Amino acid sequence: MQPAVLPTERSTDIAATAVATMRQLGVLGLPRNYEIFYEALSGTNRELSLAVVSLSSRPTQDELDQIGRTFFAHNHGPSIVEHARDVIARELEEVASLLRSERSHIEKYGRILDETSSGLSGRSLLSQDLLQKIANAMAIATNSTIDHGRQVASTLSDKTAELESVKSKLEEYKRLADTDPLTHIWNRRAFDKEITRIYNSNKGILFNALVLADIDRFKDINDRYGHPVGDKIIQIIADILQTSIRGDMFVARTGGEEFALIIEGASEDATYEIAERIRALIEQTPFTSSQTGTNYGTVTVSMGICMASEAEGPEDLYTKADRALYRSKVSGRNRVTKHSTMAGRAGKSWLLYKKD
Ligand code: GH3
Ligand code: MG
Ligand code: MG
Repeated sequence: MQPAVLPTERSTDIAATAVATMRQLGVLGLPRNYEIFYEALSGTNRELSLAVVSLSSRPTQDELDQIGRTFFAHNHGPSIVEHARDVIARELEEVASLLRSERSHIEKYGRILDETSSGLSGRSLLSQDLLQKIANAMAIATNSTIDHGRQVASTLSDKTAELESVKSKLEEYKRLADTDPLTHIWNRRAFDKEITRIYNSNKGILFNALVLADIDRFKDINDRYGHPVGDKIIQIIADILQTSIRGDMFVARTGGEEFALIIEGASEDATYEIAERIRALIEQTPFTSSQTGTNYGTVTVSMGICMASEAEGPEDLYTKADRALYRSKVSGRNRVTKHSTMAGRAGKSWLLYKKD
């Protein structure tokens, strides 16, 4: 498969390329297909990218679903969402029919009461026998209504439990769809939503910062020790990032060896201190194999910071933080740069760097 445009770093470009590539290959515009192409083009999972690249020029839906099942544990082809939709539709139909039957039962009970009271009105004397018959009829109708009501309540409670279980399965599915399978932190898709959210609230723009981190010379690590070791290092870095910041802050793996942190409620200096602390921690972490004891040497990351208030929107924020990251790279790596200290100076050279 040849993508319509080469993969790029930026989310909207990836999204547009995914759609263009799907069109070019005649792939149906289903969300599950989009997920495959989006993730493949974002380069988060090398094996997935290879599987997509080796697709024929007219991939079948079966082939795509096979890839979906292999790479998205949460996504058994279409099954989870479609199954949930079927269960919800069926359960709702049963609840509606139950409520219709309850209503007709209550209406019938009401009619019996009406008929009895109009039968009684105007009569001054009632025989013992007639009174007995009326009492029996009322008791039968009342008991039947109570029984029916109990059945409805019990069935409704079963239906509620079934719907709750579908709801929690869907929530789990949603969580997995936003999670990076290698590191279990948020993935690029979750990041795209989160960075957009910042600009949807006035409060968010004031005290939010984006920190991008990229492992230094990671190609060399892969070349020297192999991809499985590279993967392990990515996992360890993700753990360090996750545990170094407050639980309510956001950490995502946005690309192969690239991460994003959204730091809330901190000034630029405080954000810089957080980033610097993480940078130093990674530099000091020993990367050794627990099985063989092999020492993989020092691993470092470069970082770029941009405050949300310095950017016009999510794309601009990402671009500016990425420029600051680039500045850290060209200044020798293993350092943190604030976009505010370099605004306007990256321009052309940043684009050149991004091309290689
Ligand atoms: P720089 O300091 O400029 O960032 O150098 P770098 O070598 O890290 O540069 P670059 O971003 O070009 O290379 C990143 C490499 O990461 C290329 C790719 O093969 C590798 N990679 C991407 N995703 C994965 C992954 O999931 N696992 C492993 N092991 N490697 C990956
Ligand atoms: Mg990189
Ligand atoms: Mg790198």
